[in-house]
Amino acid sequence: MDFANLKADEDLIMGVHFTPGRQGRAIDRVYVHNMGGDLTGRDCHGIWQDREASAHYCVASDGRVTQTVWDRDVAWHAHNWPENQRSIGVEHANSAGPNTDLTEACLDAGAHLVAAICLYYRLGRPEWLGNVFPHCYASPTDCPGPLREGHSQHDEYVRRAGEWYDRMASGETDQRDYESAVDAADKEDKVLPNECLIQPDGKPCIWHVTPAYVKGLTHPDQMRAVQDVYRRNTGRDIPVYAYGSEEAPWAERLLQSYPKSCVEV
Ligand SMILES: [Zn+2]
Repeated sequence: MDFANLKADEDLIMGVHFTPGRQGRAIDRVYVHNMGGDLTGRDCHGIWQDREASAHYCVASDGRVTQTVWDRDVAWHAHNWPENQRSIGVEHANSAGPNTDLTEACLDAGAHLVAAICLYYRLGRPEWLGNVFPHCYASPTDCPGPLREGHSQHDEYVRRAGEWYDRMASGETDQRDYESAVDAADKEDKVLPNECLIQPDGKPCIWHVTPAYVKGLTHPDQMRAVQDVYRRNTGRDIPVYAYGSEEAPWAERLLQSYPKSCVEV
């Protein structure tokens, strides 16, 4: 999910059960829903073919986000026409049946998405009943289950939406996105590509190679800081290779693969 630009991991746009355009009405709020089961965006897309309902985004239990109605169109999620017309609807997968807690990945991605929508449409910091509403505000329902006020995940969800908003608004998100990628990679016991230290031949420095850039570290403290952060994030030591050694015959080609502006050695 590209949160800054509201580009979902997957677009599976409904052909029925939404209203094209917003008839001049501005988006000024987000509605939060839960799906009532452990469903994916594709599952919701399928169910809504036969049901007069839809939403703009679906967040699955693995945190994957699917866009099912374009933001510019009205989705039928709140069972309340004026509220539908002015809002973006976000569905969250429950980890099991109706009203069960969301997974950590779903909770975090959903809160991040709500923050991203608030920022993108200039709605201000996410505020419950200010610019973020539960489905049950617009019509009688149990939705959004554990995210309702006074229910198990409400406080954490609202807290995270605010935290994500602050980070995004201050431009910190790249780093945070990267840190979550490290966390996710660690949980799945995968090694992130391209992060290592390379010791170039005969030069008094170390290159820090990351997915985004290559930078020469000239002071031992810088190297220790990189090693420390990597260890805290991943629980293991950052790989160190000697340039051109048998373990790193690829180092030269790796460096060549970065745009010049990303290499500072
Ligand atoms: Zn709902």
